Parts: sequence; C-alpha cells; structure tokens
Amino acid sequence: MNETTVVNGLSVDVEDWFQVGAFENTIARSDWDALELRVGDNVARILDLFDEAGVKATFFTLGWVAERNPAAMRAIVDRGHELASHGYDHTRVFMLSRDEFAADLMRARAILEDAGGQAITGYRAPSFSIDSRNAWAHDVLAEHGYAYSSSVAPVVHDHYGWPEAPRFAFAPVSGSDLVEIPVTTAMLRGKRLAAGGGGFFRVLPYGFSRWAIRQVNREGHPAVFYFHPWEIDPGQPRVAGAPLRSRLRHYTNLSKMAGKLSGLLGDFEWGRMDALAAREQPRSLDWAA
Ligand SMILES: [Zn+2]
Repeated sequence: MNETTVVNGLSVDVEDWFQVGAFENTIARSDWDALELRVGDNVARILDLFDEAGVKATFFTLGWVAERNPAAMRAIVDRGHELASHGYDHTRVFMLSRDEFAADLMRARAILEDAGGQAITGYRAPSFSIDSRNAWAHDVLAEHGYAYSSSVAPVVHDHYGWPEAPRFAFAPVSGSDLVEIPVTTAMLRGKRLAAGGGGFFRVLPYGFSRWAIRQVNREGHPAVFYFHPWEIDPGQPRVAGAPLRSRLRHYTNLSKMAGKLSGLLGDFEWGRMDALAAREQPRSLDWAA
C-alpha cells in the first residue's frame, strides 16, 4: 500500500435470512425461534473469504443473533475482526422512543460483550434508521460512550435515507467525540446514488460499485461498504408470502455474491470500521445542529 491508497471500511450486518426489513410484514418476530438458523454457517464462510483476501472487517451484529451463536461471535473476535452492535432485534430506531432506544442499545451491548469478550464501541442502526426524524439517537449513542456510528444513508431511498446529511464523516453531537460515518454514496450528474452495498451491489454489475468506490477514493475519502450473511447463501429458505418486489430484491444473484465479493476485496484496500472512525474523527465535519 502506498500513501495515496485509501483504506475503506468493510462491514457485515449480521442478521439471519428471516430478519430483514423486506420480510417484516410476512414473518412475525414471535416465529423467529421456530425458523432454521443459518447465520452461523454463513459467518464462518465469510471469515474464510476474509482470511483468503487478507482483510479485517467489522461485524455489526444483532443481540438476538449473538445469544444464539456465541461460537460465531468468538470466531469473529479471535480472527482479528471488530464485533459491533446492530441493536437487539432489528427494530428500526425511528420506531422507538428515546428510552426504548437506550434500552435496546444496552441489551444488545451486554450480550455482545459477553459473547465476544471485548468492549463494543461501534453501532449501526437497523436499515440505516437514523434520519431527520430521530437525530436525537446520536445524542443517546454519545451518552452511552460509543466512539462511532455508521447509521445514516445520506440518500433518497424507498425504505430509508437522510438526503440532507453529509456524505462523509461528521460530528453529529457538539461537545462529543462521536463520529457518524455514513454509508457510501456516489455522485452522478449532481445526484447522490446509494453505492455502499446491499441490494445495489448484488443486483447491479460489479463495475458500478468499482466505479463508485474509485470516485470516492479519488476525492480522498474512504468508502463504507456493507453486506449481509444471507446474501452469500443461495440455499436459504424462500419466503413465499412476501411482496414480489421484496422477493426480487432479496433473491437476485445470491449465487454470484461470493465471487463478486472476492473481486471487491482484491481491487481495494479494506479495514475495520473502528480504525476508520479513529482516522476520520479528527477531520469530521462539525454538523451538530
Ligand atoms: Zn440489518
């Protein structure tokens, strides 16, 4: 690596195939315990993929998943990755009151610290659910001593988004060191495009993601990329009752994902989000309202 190479943030949002936002109206939380757990095996495959590529990453993990997969949590930490919080059960933050959010944070953190044996300092909101409606969530994260959050999608999207938020690292709470590192967007003809992973990475040709990350890196900024364990699992059960649009988005190109990821990991430099946050904090834009 030379000094002009930007180290990007690599992250995995650790939830199981039945816990995604697309199926929340089809699969009740009360049914979760009756469903097949697949996330542990998928995390094991991801750890091998990361070892082969020689990269370290951050695993934003649900407390619910950590309770049921303690061995996978140990493996994440033992193999040099960061374990961080994705909340307890994927309830989006704008559905919670301030006190409920604080309770969710504490519950998930206790489970994750127990399972991984390390302090949890990073947080990603389920479905990037911190936006203009609930900017107070950053205050709560600061009160609880988090070093960073990667919970904002600064873009227009049908399920989430805070299009007025900065595209790169910012300080959301004045007087606090908390840094928010939004998921990556690219600019095309003056418009912001979601380019940090998820369905966009899986559905669109890999060349789009490569173009977007190169654009961001050329501006001197790190990209923040994310994917989910279920995205590398073509054998997952199919959810028949979900809306067609959700099913199309969820099941497209699952079998191509591992190969695409290998390309991505080889084409750019990647690292853990806590390290990226420590580098970005001093130059984060002061955006506290
Ligand atoms: Zn999630």
